[in-house]
Amino acid sequence: MAALNPFTIAQQQFDEAARLLKLPNAARELLRWPMKEFHFTLPVKMDSGATRVFRAFRVQYNAARGPCKGGLRWHTKETIDTVRALAFWMTWKMAVVDLPLGGGKGGIVCNPKELSLAEKERVSRAYVRALARELGVQRDVPAPDVNTTPQIMAWSMDEFEAMLGEQHPGVITGKPLPLGGSVGRNDATSYGGLCIVREVDTMLGVRFERARYAIQGFGNVGGGVAKLLHERDGHVVAISAEDAAIYNEKGINIPAALAHYEAHHGHLAGFDGGQSITNDELLTCECDILIPAAVEHVLTERNAAAVRGKVVVELANGPTTPDADRILRDRGVVVIPDILANAGGVTVSYFEQVQNTYNYYWSLDDVHDQLRRRMSAAFRAVHEMSLERGVDHRMAAYLLALSRVAKACEIRGWI
Ligand code: NAD
Repeated sequence: MAALNPFTIAQQQFDEAARLLKLPNAARELLRWPMKEFHFTLPVKMDSGATRVFRAFRVQYNAARGPCKGGLRWHTKETIDTVRALAFWMTWKMAVVDLPLGGGKGGIVCNPKELSLAEKERVSRAYVRALARELGVQRDVPAPDVNTTPQIMAWSMDEFEAMLGEQHPGVITGKPLPLGGSVGRNDATSYGGLCIVREVDTMLGVRFERARYAIQGFGNVGGGVAKLLHERDGHVVAISAEDAAIYNEKGINIPAALAHYEAHHGHLAGFDGGQSITNDELLTCECDILIPAAVEHVLTERNAAAVRGKVVVELANGPTTPDADRILRDRGVVVIPDILANAGGVTVSYFEQVQNTYNYYWSLDDVHDQLRRRMSAAFRAVHEMSLERGVDHRMAAYLLALSRVAKACEIRGWI
């Protein structure tokens, strides 16, 4: 059987939430599809002198609550359906955290490993030239995503400014600090995750220092949240990277693990701070809060019944399959969904846009303070919706987001 395309899956999620909200037909039709999408071809001169033509997309899903915002991916398997689905999820993520933005996403079909630095620069500039009329702080603001970097954001901003002959630092976020990037962006997703974990502990009625945390993935997000938990006397009992997983019921020495991971170029194998386990065992180990922070679809119908955490905080995108979701829900395991739990990154991207717009830059304390407020308010709103409607936190997050976007469409007179 052919795999369902990601946008069809996204629309199925939408239909269920729209049914529960009793959204009128016009609202359903409008919100089931992107409002605008662009498909283009980018002719780019390679170092050899030959021209290569790259296919590229940008989807502006819905701008009722504000200008669109979303990452730009460089991927060999990029399709309009993946970009549409990701722009769809961005729309709801923005609304859950109550940012005055719509959802967008972009993609270029390419393999960055095959491109020289100069070729990457030409591809970045070609994309902005093709899309310039649609970009800007009042229209659409891209950001880094899979395989795109602060340097790519810098070239993109420079191309846009060169075309307009004006400074527009807010046209793109995730820029290097000297070009108007925000402090606190690097570990924003982890910091936002920490805020959610604190809210979850309060919800469970457990003291933060008493809870046991198991974290899958030790990269930017997983390593970052492990560090933040450890610095606050949190008890991290399990960690993993792709190559190895470690369990220590007494708590893992996270600074030592981070030093090992860095010294061994992203590997945890050989780290002797606990008992060696498999990545599968990490997901079902003895803990209170399980934090998948690696890749999608790791919690499945195969292992969901064995999960021992009371709560799953999804810092990765899409770590839980719909089947696993059902099993966890039936067992009373609370899942805090990705569109809420990992929204810290996009929130600080928004802060970057705000700082660029009024050309005044915040301290790290300011960024953390604002992020904490946003994440806590979003968690509480989702939790209340979950209690009020008797649905799980994933559905509650969709209901909250959808009702906010639909309300904006209604007030504008669109539906
Ligand atoms: P990363 O590449 O820095 O780290 C990924 C980590 O996961 C590494 O430690 C890697 O060894 C491990 N890993 C890879 N495959 C694995 C597997 N099959 N099993 C177990 N571990 C595996 O990536 P990241 O930026 O930390 O992103 C992690 C997740 O968080 C992704 O799902 C990403 O989409 C999501 N996310 C990231 C951000 C961000 O700001 N970086 C924001 C929102 C969501």
